[in-house]
Amino acid sequence: MSAVKTRFPPSPTGHLHLGGARTALFNWLFARHHQGSFVLRFEDTDRERSRQEYVDSIREALEWLGLEWDEGPYFQSERLDLYREYAHKLYQSGHAYYCECPPEELERKRKEALASGRKPGYDGTCREKDLGPGPGRVLRLRVPRPGVTVVEDLIRGAVSFDHSEIDDFILLRSDGSPTYHLAVVVDDLTMGITHVIRGDDHLSNTPKQLLLYRALEAPPPFFAHVPMILGPDGARLSKRHGARSVLEYREEGYLPQALRNYLVRLGWSWGDQEIFTLEEMIEKFDLSRINKAAARFDPEKLLAVNAYWLRATPTPELAEEVLPFLRKLGLPVPEDRRYLEEALETVKPRARTLLEAAEMLRFYLVEEIDYDPEAARKFLTPDIAPVLERLLEELSRVKFKDEPLERLFRGLAEETGLKLKKIAQPVRVALTGKTVSPGLFEIMRILGRERVLRRLRRALEFIRTR
Ligand code: GLU
Repeated sequence: MSAVKTRFPPSPTGHLHLGGARTALFNWLFARHHQGSFVLRFEDTDRERSRQEYVDSIREALEWLGLEWDEGPYFQSERLDLYREYAHKLYQSGHAYYCECPPEELERKRKEALASGRKPGYDGTCREKDLGPGPGRVLRLRVPRPGVTVVEDLIRGAVSFDHSEIDDFILLRSDGSPTYHLAVVVDDLTMGITHVIRGDDHLSNTPKQLLLYRALEAPPPFFAHVPMILGPDGARLSKRHGARSVLEYREEGYLPQALRNYLVRLGWSWGDQEIFTLEEMIEKFDLSRINKAAARFDPEKLLAVNAYWLRATPTPELAEEVLPFLRKLGLPVPEDRRYLEEALETVKPRARTLLEAAEMLRFYLVEEIDYDPEAARKFLTPDIAPVLERLLEELSRVKFKDEPLERLFRGLAEETGLKLKKIAQPVRVALTGKTVSPGLFEIMRILGRERVLRRLRRALEFIRTR
């Protein structure tokens, strides 16, 4: 096989979503696995709907995911002359013909066909008219009739399409612009693409594209149509299922390695393995292990995979990643990086996203915590005040290490006849504002004596004035 070359050809008419990201990932992995190259190409011939903003955001999303391209980005809008040149070749070789049917006429026939239960394709009115180019005329492919085209799909096997299903489709519109089929074939051909890996919603386009390769007497690339992604309810994945654009996942505190890991498993598997490093993905990825059935998007699993990668990230690195989220929440970033890292260490096992981690760090960072009203009502009660007073006394003496702190709490429990939990919960609320937090002794150790004493005094104040 010649050197593998794959491509990702998004239309810049929207942001990069999970389905597109998975297609890009599969193409990228396949190229990397075979030491081939990966091309980025923007299919921006639809000038009405294409936007620079989407070009930028798609590039940014691919870069964030680490899917760097080796060639491009190409823009179809800059290659129009090339498409016209190929169109002309097809016309000259007799594989394409001009059609002068007025659009209204075609529309009328289409409606008629639909109404009488026939297929709405072009009826071949101009096929034998031998028309040359001219205003208002489109160029159509002369699809061989009768005939059958077989797509030898690398995932699905052979799929036959009878030409009665394929009309003489348009290659050049009357304004001289190419249709998707012409542009995509000319690009894949001239760019030397060896493998086209794309969603199976494109499967029905493939026989048309194969016919174009045949008409151009050019060998087609291999095709692999990946089953689509469904939402948990079995319908095609959409926003409704909580699926967001790649950059929105970044905003919500997902890690690129987690999203990549989740996406690679969406339709591809390697035994029961769920967690893949980038190197492992590259080493193991192949087309033969792509599932034939549609994959289902599961936001909970994505969260779990993200939580895994969060825990697997060394804390100093994670601290760096969490900074933008602290800023986003308006939290002060401590100057002492060690303090931040120690605090992060304690929330790391519980946080599933960077945003959650930042939120969990709140009580470590703010000068004055807010009490969760329900927690305060339940735990910061007058009967606990004497215990907190005792604690204040003892805490000004004890060493702020986990063990002595624990000993102190146990001693106090014995002394007062209260269960340890009865003492720990009010203290937790006093220190964090909440009833759920990392381990009490570790947060005390990290907050340090001064903050702990101040917060306990404030809790006592709160109890007195409630
Ligand atoms: N621009 C097309 C799309 O975004 C590309 C299809 C293809 O891979 O050929 O769906």
